[in-house]
Amino acid sequence: MPAPVTLLVHGGAGTLTRANLSPAQELEYRDALGQALRAGQSLLLRGASAVDAVVAAVSVLEDCPLFNAGKGSVFTHEGRNEMDAAVMDGATGQAGAVAGVVSVRNPILAAQAVMQQSGHVLLIGQGAEAFAQSQGLAMEGPEYFHTAHRWQQLQAALAHQQVMLDHDGQHPQGQPEPIDRKFGTVGAVALDAHGHLAAATSTGGMTNKMFGRVGDSPLIGAGTYACDATAAVSATGSGEFFMRGVVAHDIAARMAYGGLSLAEATQATVRDKLDATGGRGGVIALDRHGHYQLAFNTEGMYRGVVQGQAEPQISIYRD
Ligand code: ASP
Repeated sequence: MPAPVTLLVHGGAGTLTRANLSPAQELEYRDALGQALRAGQSLLLRGASAVDAVVAAVSVLEDCPLFNAGKGSVFTHEGRNEMDAAVMDGATGQAGAVAGVVSVRNPILAAQAVMQQSGHVLLIGQGAEAFAQSQGLAMEGPEYFHTAHRWQQLQAALAHQQVMLDHDGQHPQGQPEPIDRKFGTVGAVALDAHGHLAAATSTGGMTNKMFGRVGDSPLIGAGTYACDATAAVSATGSGEFFMRGVVAHDIAARMAYGGLSLAEATQATVRDKLDATGGRGGVIALDRHGHYQLAFNTEGMYRGVVQGQAEPQISIYRD
């Protein structure tokens, strides 16, 4: 029997506990994750490609100001929004990404256009902007991306002279605790009715990051990777650790070279490439049999899964 069409999404990992999320906020997050899953699910059930499904799901989350991607992206030290996104097609090995874009409304659509129309894999800054515009994508001014809660996060980070790495134990001794230890990057992985996999990730990066800093999300193999023979993976967390550990590809490589199952590979990568180095965050991973993992080493991760015609299942906390 063929595996059911499957879609997983994440909306970031971090210090997510019942104590720091009100029931009303929790409902808003669940609602948004459910909308993203349904958008991708309805495409997959109609026979659309895994690429189209992950792009649709990520676009919904980019449009939602709750997450750190598209509208709602965090601010750089200079008070700008610089966004990164990537998509990879597990069927063809094609990939597309943009980094440091400031006015593309949906960076994931720009990444998809890079993959399908440019002949390149990664475009940055002004070149990426000009390309997105030439593809007829919606562009926005800074006011569109500006949200009050992200601005407050930047002010708090500036006051504490911290890059908001947002994870436990990474602040220097004697410094105050990070104010908001949550990652809000969004991502999706999908298996379509034709047995193909895809992965997509979109982010505003880190609050108070340096001008020009690029994270793991748009780097193929670090925060985003898909290959039909192994797995589709999208990551969230302290990007520098995911880049050094080439985390998304590491999971696929353990499957390809070591014969590990998706679950074994994911657990080994989280242990060796995140736990062992102090990296914080999580991954969603999926293979062509419909086996999946939603793994993280933080207190929680906004996450959800839908298979076949079933109702989406959404979780936030560790339990
Ligand atoms: N991984 C992202 C980055 O480093 C941040 C996140 O997951 O929220 O840019």
